Amino acid sequence: MYEFEREELVKNLIRKGIKGKEILNAILKVERHNFIPKSMWKDAYLDTALPIGYEQTISQPYTVAVMTEALEVKKGDKILEIGTGSGYQAAILSRMGAQVFSIERNYQLYLLVRKRFDDLGIHAALKYGDGTIGWSEVSPFDGIIVTAGSPDIPQTLVRQLKNRGKMVIPVGNKYEQDMVIIEKIDDNKISKKVIPHFAFVKLIGREGWKKE
Ligand code: SAM
Repeated sequence: MYEFEREELVKNLIRKGIKGKEILNAILKVERHNFIPKSMWKDAYLDTALPIGYEQTISQPYTVAVMTEALEVKKGDKILEIGTGSGYQAAILSRMGAQVFSIERNYQLYLLVRKRFDDLGIHAALKYGDGTIGWSEVSPFDGIIVTAGSPDIPQTLVRQLKNRGKMVIPVGNKYEQDMVIIEKIDDNKISKKVIPHFAFVKLIGREGWKKE
């Protein structure tokens, strides 16, 4: 279902500058319509964010592609996602062969995605809670992807990265953020790159925004 629309979406992403074969292949294969309410299926393969209820969104496919490319995911990498949302980003990472851990602070979304992953046969470890403090029991990670906008870089997450691990996180104010790509060189040193102009819902938690 919707194969043609997915092919068109991939062509659109290539035109916008996405080059990674693995991420493009995952976007071609993962059925985005399964991650949104049925009333919006006709818009599933537009390159836009869409509402998923609870004032949250499934990210724009271009944003998913940029963030995933920046993580430089390899098969078998252990990746932590903060903000499971619809589960689409986690499904993309899983399709690329990553070992995925994902945390969501909205209990209803967490339950919904647990059932969705069971139904679709997607393997990822899901947790309900505040992702700004990471998942220490299963750390360190090769990569961390934060899919909500943060006022700062949560230092607990940096500590849960392996040396040479990468973190991708939108950082800024409540309306606009820069995508910050961090590489942890060692315990005392990180390198940073920035891609400007993204807009995410808020990362709310101990090391994020304090209020809804
Ligand atoms: N990655 C998602 C997807 O593929 O559909 C999109 C995520 S949506 C833009 C942001 C999500 O982050 C929301 O579901 C929100 O509830 C969640 N969130 C916000 N603060 C969080 C936190 N501290 N820990 C975990 N999840 C959080």
